[in-house]
Amino acid sequence: MMAGDGLILRVKPRHARLLRGEVELLCDLATRFGNGAIDLTNRANLQIRGLREADVAQALALLVQQGLVEAAPDGERRRNVLVAPDWSEGDTTWRLADELMARLPELPDLPGKIGFAIDLGAAPVLTEVSADFRLERAADAALLLRLDGRTAGVPVRADEAVDRMLDLARWFAVSGASAAGRARRFDGPLPAWARGTVHPASPRPPLVPGACLSGATGGRIWGLPFGRTDAPALSRLMAATGAAALRVTPWRALVTEGGNTHAVEGFLTDPADPRLAADACPGAPACPQATVQTRALAERLAPHVSGRLHVSGCAKGCARGRAADVAITGRDGAFDLAFQARAGDPPVLSGLTPERLLAHFGAY
Ligand code: SF4
Repeated sequence: MMAGDGLILRVKPRHARLLRGEVELLCDLATRFGNGAIDLTNRANLQIRGLREADVAQALALLVQQGLVEAAPDGERRRNVLVAPDWSEGDTTWRLADELMARLPELPDLPGKIGFAIDLGAAPVLTEVSADFRLERAADAALLLRLDGRTAGVPVRADEAVDRMLDLARWFAVSGASAAGRARRFDGPLPAWARGTVHPASPRPPLVPGACLSGATGGRIWGLPFGRTDAPALSRLMAATGAAALRVTPWRALVTEGGNTHAVEGFLTDPADPRLAADACPGAPACPQATVQTRALAERLAPHVSGRLHVSGCAKGCARGRAADVAITGRDGAFDLAFQARAGDPPVLSGLTPERLLAHFGAY
């Protein structure tokens, strides 16, 4: 993808995990071919930024060789599998994610953003994360297949769960439902076998930076301000912790597997850090749609805003699809301000400079 700061190259880690050597490769590519920046997206992918067109083929070849990117673009396009990051090797989440990844070539053509969630911890944790076909647990621990946007799903056995998930995706493709683009925009009837009445268990809260993950990984959760880090910082994290692997989450946080848990510069470990309650897209100059800078403003405003802050470079609102307590949207080089709103919603004040906004929230 082309952005204002050059091409973006996206890696979708299998099982939401990168081994130490894979993290090192990514850092090396970000430094050699990109501008060093590495983004963690809200679908738990990692992106290196600022690549020149002439370097993409070489960077891509190295990622394919390492198995981090599919050689066939079609295969890579289908690989939208979100995995609850606190799995243990061999558990149901791990096994079904593994099976689904192996069977993605069986999928029909689907709209580009369609994705799958394997979310089989004690209770769902990916409920608020973008995915269309979900495997989750009911309150009685039964496995459920649920189409995103429906409140209930249909119970499935573990040994048939991926079959049913693929069946539902095939039905979505051939029934005309896929014309809606995403599952939650489709409100027509489902096939009789997929019309479930069982509700998923109440969702678990997302992983919080600062905590140490119990169980299999034994590592620590590290927050990334606005989902952005860079190659030197990520290398420093791996060296300082001595972690064997890194897990990616859709909550702007990384999890180190094993290793020590001392603080590392550039990573948030205080769950009360105000930047964790703020969303901001890359803005100008990284995004060509933006006419304003976003993250520097969000960083200064965050400690002075109560509730959730969203600073968006334009009305598209890439960093946050849902409403925020304070929504600040760039337009024609200035900002609109709205409350309890999404990016681009009708503002209560418009044409604001960063200085006016800082003064409005007492940040001067
Ligand atoms: S919200 Fe607008 S400015 Fe921000 S990244 Fe998306 S398209 Fe670019």
